[in-house]
Amino acid sequence: MKHTPFWWEDAPRENAIPETQPQKTDIAIVGAGYSGLNAAIILARAGRAVTVFEAGQLGIGASSRNGGMLGPSFHKLGISGLIAKYGEETTHGILRESIGFVDFLADFLETENINADLKRTGRFQGALSAQHFNAAQERIEGLNKVCGDIAHMVSQKDQHLETGSKRFTGGVVYQMDAGLNPAKYHNGLIDVARKAGVVILPFTPVQSITKGFALTTRLGTVQASQVAVCTNGYTGKELQWFRKRVLPLRSAIITTEPIPAEIMARLMPKSRMYGDTRRMVAYYRPSPDGRRIIFGGRASNLRDNPAANARNLHRSMCEVYPELKDTKISHVWSGLVAYTFDHAPHIGQQDGMDYAMGYCGSGVTRSSYFGQKLAHKMLGDTEKGHTYFDNLDFQTKPFYSGNPWFMPAILGWHRLMDRLS
Ligand SMILES: Cc1cc2nc3c(=O)[nH]c(=O)nc-3n(C[C@H](O)[C@H](O)[C@H](O)COP(=O)(O)OP(=O)(O)OC[C@H]3O[C@@H](n4cnc5c(N)ncnc54)[C@H](O)[C@@H]3O)c2cc1C
Repeated sequence: MKHTPFWWEDAPRENAIPETQPQKTDIAIVGAGYSGLNAAIILARAGRAVTVFEAGQLGIGASSRNGGMLGPSFHKLGISGLIAKYGEETTHGILRESIGFVDFLADFLETENINADLKRTGRFQGALSAQHFNAAQERIEGLNKVCGDIAHMVSQKDQHLETGSKRFTGGVVYQMDAGLNPAKYHNGLIDVARKAGVVILPFTPVQSITKGFALTTRLGTVQASQVAVCTNGYTGKELQWFRKRVLPLRSAIITTEPIPAEIMARLMPKSRMYGDTRRMVAYYRPSPDGRRIIFGGRASNLRDNPAANARNLHRSMCEVYPELKDTKISHVWSGLVAYTFDHAPHIGQQDGMDYAMGYCGSGVTRSSYFGQKLAHKMLGDTEKGHTYFDNLDFQTKPFYSGNPWFMPAILGWHRLMDRLS
C-alpha cells in the first residue's frame, strides 16, 4: 500500500531545490497551494513581480492531496444560524456567492486550458435516519428558496438510482457539485503561474517576516512591498496571529484497487460525488477513470498514522458498501484542513499583510476563488475584490495557541454520537 496520494500517479511532484531567491520582489506570497497560486497569477498579470515561497515540495499542503470534490460549500451554520449571526442581507449574499463557486472554477480551468479531469457530476448525500432525512428536507427547502433550484430530495424508494448502499433512508442530490483530479489542477496552476512570470520557490519556508516587509528564508532576506499569507492548515508559529485562528484537522483518504465495472455501476450508478449525514465527515467518489473508489474522512489523530487511517477508512467504507470487505487498498494518505471557530473562511488584512484561509475542509473552489479575490484586493480593485465574506470577525479563543490538542476528544464524541444514532 502506497502512502502517497493516488493523484500523484498521474500528476507527479517536482523535487528540484532552488539555490537562489530574488533580493527584492513586489509581492511575496507565503504558501504555494491553490490560494497562493491563484493570487500569484492575477498579480503577475497585473505587472507585479511576484515570488511564491513554499515550505516543502510543491503541493505538499492540501492542494494536491484532497478529495477533488467541488461544491458551493454552503456555510455549516445553515441559513437560520447565518441570519442570526450576520443578518439577512449578508446571509443571502454569502449563499448566492457560494452558488457560483463551481462555475467560477470550471470557467477558470477552461480559460487557462488546464486539464484536471473536471466532471460535473452532482453529489448524493445519504441520510442515515428518517430524522436526518427530514432535517435535510427542511434545509434544502430554505436553500432552494434563496438560491434557486439547486438540490432535490431522493426518497428511500428511489435511492437505488443514486447509490448501491442500503444504509440510507433516502438523501439529497446537490446538482451543481463536480469532481476533478486535484493534483492535475495544482500542476496546471504551477504552469500557468510560471508562464505569467511568477517565481516559485519550493523547499523555502519563510522563517520570519518583519514589518516593511523583510522575509527571512534559508537563502537570505527578501524585501517585499506586499505580503499575502496563504498557509491555511499549515500555518506555523512564524505567523502566530493567523495560527491562533485556525484549527488544523487531519483528513485522510484511501483508494481501492480497481473494482470490476459491474460492481462500480451498482455502487455508484451515476458516478456522482458522495457523502452522508454522519457527524464524523465521510466523503467518497469514483476515481476519474471510474475504476476505483476514493474514500475519505476525518482522521482521529492529529499526527499522520497511515496504518490506522487505512484500517478505519476501510471499515467506514464497508459500512456504506459491505460488499467491498475483501477489496484491497492501494493508497492511503492524509493532510491538514483549516477549520475556524465560526465555520467560515476568512479574507482580509492583518499587520499590513493580506490573507485568505480557513476553508473548513471545503476548499478546492473556495481557496481558488478567495485567492483571486485576495489578488484584486492587493491591487486596490475594491469592486473585483469584494466578497460577502469580507469583514467577518476572524476569531480566536482564550488559551488557544494553534495546537488543537482537544480535537481527538471531540472527534471521539462525534464518533460515539454517530454510533448511538
Ligand atoms: C485529505 C484532504 C481532503 C480534502 N478534500 C477536499 C475536497 O474533496 N473538496 C474540497 O473542496 N476541499 C477539500 N479539502 C480542502 C482543500 O484541499 C483545501 O482547503 C485547499 O487545498 C486549501 O488550499 P490553500 O492553498 O489555502 O492551502 P494549502 O494547499 O494547504 O497550501 C498551504 C501551503 O502553505 C505552505 N506553508 C505554510 N507555512 C509556510 C511558510 N512559513 N513558508 C512557506 N510556505 C508555507 C504549506 O507547506 C502548504 O503547502 C481537503 C483537504 C485535505 C487535507
